[in-house]
Amino acid sequence: MKVLVAEDEPVSRRLLEALLRKWGYDVLAVPNGSKAWEIVQKPEAPGLVISDWMMPGMDGLELCSKIRRMEDSDYIYFIILTAKGNKEDVVKGLSAGADDYVIKPFDKEELRSRVRIGERIINLERQIRHMASIDPLTSVLNRKAFMERLDAEANRARRKKIAFSFVITDIDYFKKINDTFGHQAGDIVLQRFSKKLSDSLRSYDFVGRYGGEEFTICLPHTETPQARNVAERLRKSIEKMNMKLPGEADPVKITASFGVASYHPNSDDNLDSLVRRADRALYEAKSQGKNRVCVEET
Ligand code: GH3
Ligand code: MG
Ligand code: MG
Ligand code: MG
Repeated sequence: MKVLVAEDEPVSRRLLEALLRKWGYDVLAVPNGSKAWEIVQKPEAPGLVISDWMMPGMDGLELCSKIRRMEDSDYIYFIILTAKGNKEDVVKGLSAGADDYVIKPFDKEELRSRVRIGERIINLERQIRHMASIDPLTSVLNRKAFMERLDAEANRARRKKIAFSFVITDIDYFKKINDTFGHQAGDIVLQRFSKKLSDSLRSYDFVGRYGGEEFTICLPHTETPQARNVAERLRKSIEKMNMKLPGEADPVKITASFGVASYHPNSDDNLDSLVRRADRALYEAKSQGKNRVCVEET
């Protein structure tokens, strides 16, 4: 786990850095709050901060308050490590949002235990976050998490002026699978289907379960013609699958229909419209006889 140390006093900073390294942490050490603030705002920021209180420029308390006001960031566990040891200071530090307060000079083993508590909490928080964003049956993103990532993708597309594409796919005659082989077999089909989608895409594409047997795919940095090719490739690989289901002698085959639409950052495009256009294309694919890809009309 990554730990960020903010301490203006060089000897203490190096000591902390060496200790944390010895304990197996990945350490970044900076001499003031402003540098620490820069680091925590970057992607893949450290999960735990150990910060001195008194530092030139931004002090530890201000750093802590700023971190607590951050939106949409993973939780950061904050330990204040300071010589300010009277009761009022401790209360003030914890009120600023610190999780723990250690008074200097500190006992190494005590600090080690307290860092471990922080690590445990951060890991739990990450697990909860993960569980809240994943569809339990298929392990792809759930609808809410998918839409959040899609929103982030739209912001990025606007900033960088790059289009991306969005695909909705729906398994054809899925009700018949359930009716013929049972609901549990239907669940297995959903798992294999979504795994096939995920396995067939690039690492930065992402898949979500929109509901039931409907899945959504975001293809960053992809214009409509390429997106159509991707969807066509997916459609073919689904069609080729032979699914062996428990208790069934013959493999089961499925097909799926796909609707494709693209987000264009220059126009005043929005996600509601994007989803509606892809949905309309999917509807078109269904009404033209299923097992096909349709692209939005432009
Ligand atoms: P179409 O070809 O037009 O898409 O028809 P369809 O039968 O695939 O679609 P329909 O909307 O009629 O039926 C979808 C079925 O998906 C109905 C529902 O019971 C089933 N379903 C939804 N969620 C789950 C699930 O989690 N597991 C299983 N086994 N079935 C599900
Ligand atoms: Mg200091
Ligand atoms: Mg269906
Ligand atoms: Mg459906």
